[in-house]
Amino acid sequence: MTERRAEIAKNLHLVRERLAAACAAAGRPAADVTLIAVTKTYPASDVAHLAALGVADIGENRDQEAAPKAAAVAELGLDVRWHFVGRLQRNKCRSVVRYADMVHSVDGVRLAETLGRAAAEGRARPLDVLVQVSIDGDASRGGVPADSLERVAEAVAAVPSLRLRGLMAVAPLDWRPEAAFDALARTAERLRIGYPTADVLSAGMSADLEAAVAFGATHVRIGSAVLGNRLPLE
Ligand SMILES: *Cc1c(COP(=O)(O)O)cnc(C)c1O
Repeated sequence: MTERRAEIAKNLHLVRERLAAACAAAGRPAADVTLIAVTKTYPASDVAHLAALGVADIGENRDQEAAPKAAAVAELGLDVRWHFVGRLQRNKCRSVVRYADMVHSVDGVRLAETLGRAAAEGRARPLDVLVQVSIDGDASRGGVPADSLERVAEAVAAVPSLRLRGLMAVAPLDWRPEAAFDALARTAERLRIGYPTADVLSAGMSADLEAAVAFGATHVRIGSAVLGNRLPLE
């Protein structure tokens, strides 16, 4: 085993233990929660290490980085699912639909429409979509305020090439994660009244995965706790 693989394996072990403990505390089966390793700023070789260690769900936040990385990983013959979790510009949709299995960050009607057209033209199967919610209503950091959620959800659900699967959110920096994910859980419950199959809740990162699991996260997006601290170049 290379040094890097051993380092990732050690980190992964700790994160899996945290997840198992959080699930146990919440009375949820561990299989309820999918770990997405967010590999932004890290190379395709790290994705290969993760795949070898049993992590099949990989997250990225910028198309410029993700598209070549996904191609490199495919070249290695590795089969992983790609989650696009960052802000998505409409001119990147045609690229993203070619490799992404799930887009977590749809936060507008026009974006949903553009992504839908790109998915219809650029892929064989419908694209799984989460609507990103802004928990504090400050849309400058991405996400739709809860009171505009219905419009965006409707726009996604109306497009045959997209499948509305649920919600994603990032806890605001100045909120207690428990308060943030509690609010998110209520929003998700309301969404499921109209869209009962939209049962994915993507919430929780390295620092707050326990709170997210306590409030129903089905997917956690973990970067630094698995891969190490990123250089500050975002
Ligand atoms: C980078 C990123 C993550 C992972 O963050 P960590 O704090 O490193 O775990 C999760 N979600 C999104 C949207 C990200 O951009």
